[in-house]
Amino acid sequence: MESNRIQTAFGALKLNDVLLDVLHKEGYLTPTPIQKRLIPVLLGGHSATVSAQTGSGKTLAYLLPTLQQMNPHATPVTHHYPKLFILSPTKELAQQIYEVSKPFASALGFRVVLLQGGGKRTDEVKRLERGVDIIVATPQRALEHVEARRIDIKAIKHLVVDEADMMFDMGFVPYVEKLFAAMTERSQKVIVSATITPRVVKLAKAYIKSLRRVELDPPGKIADTITQYLYPVVRSKKEALLSWLISSDDLKRVLVFVRKKELADGVAESLRSWGYKVGILHGEKMHQERKKSLLAFREGRYQILVATDIAARGLDIANLDVVINYDIPHVKHDFIHRVGRTGRAGKAGMAMTLVSPDEIEQLKDLQKVLGSKIKEVILPDFAPKEIKARRYLLQPSPRKRKTPSAKAASTTGVSKKGKKRKTTKRDGWKLLDAAKEKKKRGRK
Ligand code: AMP
Repeated sequence: MESNRIQTAFGALKLNDVLLDVLHKEGYLTPTPIQKRLIPVLLGGHSATVSAQTGSGKTLAYLLPTLQQMNPHATPVTHHYPKLFILSPTKELAQQIYEVSKPFASALGFRVVLLQGGGKRTDEVKRLERGVDIIVATPQRALEHVEARRIDIKAIKHLVVDEADMMFDMGFVPYVEKLFAAMTERSQKVIVSATITPRVVKLAKAYIKSLRRVELDPPGKIADTITQYLYPVVRSKKEALLSWLISSDDLKRVLVFVRKKELADGVAESLRSWGYKVGILHGEKMHQERKKSLLAFREGRYQILVATDIAARGLDIANLDVVINYDIPHVKHDFIHRVGRTGRAGKAGMAMTLVSPDEIEQLKDLQKVLGSKIKEVILPDFAPKEIKARRYLLQPSPRKRKTPSAKAASTTGVSKKGKKRKTTKRDGWKLLDAAKEKKKRGRK
């Protein structure tokens, strides 16, 4: 019975039995709103720009209809004939899309090849030579293979550009344009992001004659399932506050975003010195190291992953307790993507943002993009003097855990029940203050 219901829910979208079977096996019960909207448009052969919230199921929304349109008997499988090409701005997202596509592709008898900067070129060449139907790639590496004539771009019937606005931010647009220009006009092009910007639409219009716009949510809208808190903090106490938030709320899987690579290294180092198991993910780390860190974090061997905004796009990490923004990102839209690593597929999520007085202008700009203010939590041990003068703002708990307000009470050393709070070695803020005090004394 259950199976019939599932078949009907996705079956109503006119997906074929092979795809319906895999959906069933993978545990997808009903299509998400973006899947309901996009699948018929793409099955109709149209090109589209797609804007829907982070974590809304966009990957399957473009994968299922493009896969279904690929006829396994149309061309023999040779390395010259990939039919579906999916571009991702980051290696990690490319890897994830590759993993999501594999069961569907193999059930249909298609071969998928992943091409990503940092991956071994010779291995990629061998895989391409064995024959390929679907390519998932980062743009620069993809173009290298195209220019070496290992891929016949004219054979491509469907192109997906995921996280399209990040292609601009990372300077990948020339690569994308070369691919667009080399493809036939008739091929289907799908351009996707939670934050489709006007320049993305302009690029799409320049290359695509008849373009549908599938907008489920206004670009940049944060999912209602995500509860957010803003913590004003003295800059020098940020690391301490971070450690304190993690330990006092017993957060098991924490993704920390920082603006800069050096800062990611520094913050991770401090957290490690306080006994946490921490991975680092940023653009200057070697490919294998990035892969290892993300895997260890996904598998729970690292409690914390400190990352720059390359990890903000598209990554789907199960059971993430919280995203902590150590700072406000340089590109405001990245904030939406950072926060969007939680609260995925309709589940509850939580995001905390630390803001120091020197970031107030950036915060104001961000709030303009968000269209609303984030709830503020003032912790007297960390907040700047001018903000401490205000009264505490107590917030309800989003997940019946210890609330920020309860935490605020416990900064005084007294728990809700009136017992003395046990100080752990992870009480970073105390360590930091003590170290500073010592330094001061040393200088005298
Ligand atoms: P995406 O936006 O494609 O990264 O997907 C976000 C999350 O939603 C992933 O964990 C997917 O596995 C999940 N997801 C996608 N489609 C469905 C669906 N129809 N039902 C339940 N979960 C889904």
